[in-house]
Amino acid sequence: MTRAVRPRTLRLRTALGAAVAVVLAAGVGACAYNETLGRNQLLLIPPDAMMQQSNAAWAEAIRTQPTSRDPAQVGRVRAVGDRIVQAAGLTDRRWEYAVFVSDTPNAFVLPSAQIGVTTGLLRLARNDDQLAAVIGHEVAHVVAQHAAERASSGAIAQLGVAAVQGAAGDYGQQAGGLAAIFAQYGGLLPFSRRDELEADRIGVDYMVRAGYRPTEAVELWRTMAAQRQSGVPEFASTHPSDATRIQQLQQYIAQRGYR
Ligand SMILES: [Zn+2]
Repeated sequence: MTRAVRPRTLRLRTALGAAVAVVLAAGVGACAYNETLGRNQLLLIPPDAMMQQSNAAWAEAIRTQPTSRDPAQVGRVRAVGDRIVQAAGLTDRRWEYAVFVSDTPNAFVLPSAQIGVTTGLLRLARNDDQLAAVIGHEVAHVVAQHAAERASSGAIAQLGVAAVQGAAGDYGQQAGGLAAIFAQYGGLLPFSRRDELEADRIGVDYMVRAGYRPTEAVELWRTMAAQRQSGVPEFASTHPSDATRIQQLQQYIAQRGYR
C-alpha cells in the first residue's frame, strides 16, 4: 500500500510546497485574526490546496479501511454530528461521517468537512452527550483552522529540509491503517497541545448550544484516562495529559457557568 500511495504523496507535497513558496515570494500577509480563538493565525496554505489534499485523504481512508455498515452506529454519529454542526454554524457545507472498525478509541476530522470515529470510541462514549463532546471537539478544530495553521508551519519547515511526519489521529495514535494514510499526506500534521485545549473549550460551547450536557465531556476524559491506564497505547507526545485536559475542562465549564 505504501508503495502505491507514494507517487501521489510526492505530488501533493510538491504542490503544497510550491503554493507556499508562491505565497511567501509574493509577500502576501497571511496572518489572520480568528475571532473564535481570539488570536492571530499564520495561514499560508491556499484553501483550495488544503481541501484537495484532505478530500484525497478521506477518499483513501474510506477506500482502504474497514468501515461499519451498521445503520444504527452510523446513524448515531450522523444525528449527533448534525446537531453539533448546526450549533457551530457550519451548515454551509455537506458533512460526511464514517465509523471505522477499530478497537482503538479514536476520532479525526478533515478540513473538508469529514469526521471519522472508530467503533472503539462508540463503545467508550456511554451516551450521546459524550459522543457530542468528541464531535464538538473535532468540529472546533475546523472552525479554528488548526489543520491549515499546522500545515503552514509544516510547509515552511518542508521548504528547508524536514519531511513532514506524523498521523493526524486525535485521541492518541491513530489506528494502524489510518495512521499510514495520514502519514502519507504531508500537510496533515498532528495537532499541538494548544490546539487540543482550544478545541476542548470551543467544543464544550457547541455542546451547550446543541443542548448536550457539558459535564459529560469531563466524564468521557475520565473513562479515556482509566482505559489508558489499563494498557491502551500512550497518547502522542503532542497531546496534553488527561489530567491537564480534565482540569482545564472543569475550570472552563465553571467559568462559563455551564451545568
Ligand atoms: Zn483534537
